[in-house]
Amino acid sequence: MLEKVVIANRGEIALRILRACKELGIKTVAVYSKVDKDLMHVRLADEAVCIGPNASTDSYLNIPRIISAAEVTDATGIHPGYGFLAENAGFAEMVENSGFTFIGPTAETIRVMGDKVAAIAAMQQSGVPTVPGSNGPLDEDNERTIRIAKDIGYPVIIKAAAGGGGRGMRVVHSEAALINSIFVTKTEAKAAFGDDTVYMEKFLENPRHVEVQVLADGQGNAIHLYDRDCSMQRRHQKVVEEAPAPHIDADARAQVLKACTDACIEIGYRGAGTFEFLYENGRFFFIEMNTRVQVEHPVSEMVTGVDIIKEQLLIASGLPLTIKQEDVQVNGHAFECRINAEDPKNFMPCPGKINQFHAPGGLGVRVDSHLYSGYSIPPFYDSMIAKLITHAPTREEALKRMEVALDEMIIDGIKTNIPLQKDIVLDANFAVGGVNIHYLEKKLGL
Ligand code: ADP
Repeated sequence: MLEKVVIANRGEIALRILRACKELGIKTVAVYSKVDKDLMHVRLADEAVCIGPNASTDSYLNIPRIISAAEVTDATGIHPGYGFLAENAGFAEMVENSGFTFIGPTAETIRVMGDKVAAIAAMQQSGVPTVPGSNGPLDEDNERTIRIAKDIGYPVIIKAAAGGGGRGMRVVHSEAALINSIFVTKTEAKAAFGDDTVYMEKFLENPRHVEVQVLADGQGNAIHLYDRDCSMQRRHQKVVEEAPAPHIDADARAQVLKACTDACIEIGYRGAGTFEFLYENGRFFFIEMNTRVQVEHPVSEMVTGVDIIKEQLLIASGLPLTIKQEDVQVNGHAFECRINAEDPKNFMPCPGKINQFHAPGGLGVRVDSHLYSGYSIPPFYDSMIAKLITHAPTREEALKRMEVALDEMIIDGIKTNIPLQKDIVLDANFAVGGVNIHYLEKKLGL
């Protein structure tokens, strides 16, 4: 078993990892930027090391400083959480080469999956259904590109192979706009990701975002924890998630779940991972794989009872998976609302001091948050400050429970998106279930 783990992250996920480590008897090291000294997990960790100034590039993204922190504290493993260095193959490699365990897949897996073109090719090899597309990068041959688009049929979407976080994508509706759009996307991709490789996919007009959570031990065993629906999005960013995804064709679901675990075994996947799909007209289309724990992992935990972070730690300790697929059942339904420090109308980040924080509670209510009364949210990082999760025997009850919990939640001192979350939870179409990825933006008049 891992003895001591450096938590290379901050906020709610750092606290979540700390809790899992404690339950497994693993010692913890918090690493933090100057402004983050008052974070809850920093107070609760066995040891804490300041790794630099506030800018993420000087702290949470500074690989040598994180590795030094592991060295001076005699840690054995490093958990990257999500965001920051979680999908940085170079980091995973450096961690392992320095003699520590990287809590995640191998650097090679991260590298392949981080290149969406390579990931799609790997998935096709394993029999996972993908979006009709260019099946490879677009080159200088404009005539070929125009032909591909014609074959796929407009609208098409140009996507950066190295893209992430909803950036590096552009929808094209006609041949007249194609070549210029590719040029602009390439330029943006080069600036944002240092790689101007782009590819083309059919732009699905009314899909849902449905993803599959997997756990694999890299020793030939893989299971799935069923699916989640994350279609409630703004600017390709998830706002509300739920498990299981409602109204999914049973045969298509069974097939895709099996394809995901088969692919894990085929590629020798190790750790927790997520296969993301678009779901339209009863069919799944793979878009990308995330090689880390996701923000929305709690909804899968609530319905399956499996602690995903603990499993990550056990797998990283070299233990084979002990959970069998037949032991994983879906019990009831769960929702997660992401609570952000932002203006609910114009979405501007709204950092500042929390005068009072009151977390809702009761049966089937979970709050994953690092907030406490008197805590000051710094302006340097992501605006997500809490995740409110509800679980109940039926979807309807879980949604009602969310409505009650949102009413009970008090975050005084700053603006939050709680009013927006209340609107979503009371939305008649959302109550039916199965709205598509454009629904929220249309509702907001964007
Ligand atoms: P990222 O890595 O930036 O999250 P993804 O490939 O996962 O990028 O896509 C993010 C979101 O963009 C999806 O959830 C969906 O809303 C939209 N999207 C991506 N590809 C397509 C497509 N082919 N058709 C329609 N929407 C798409």
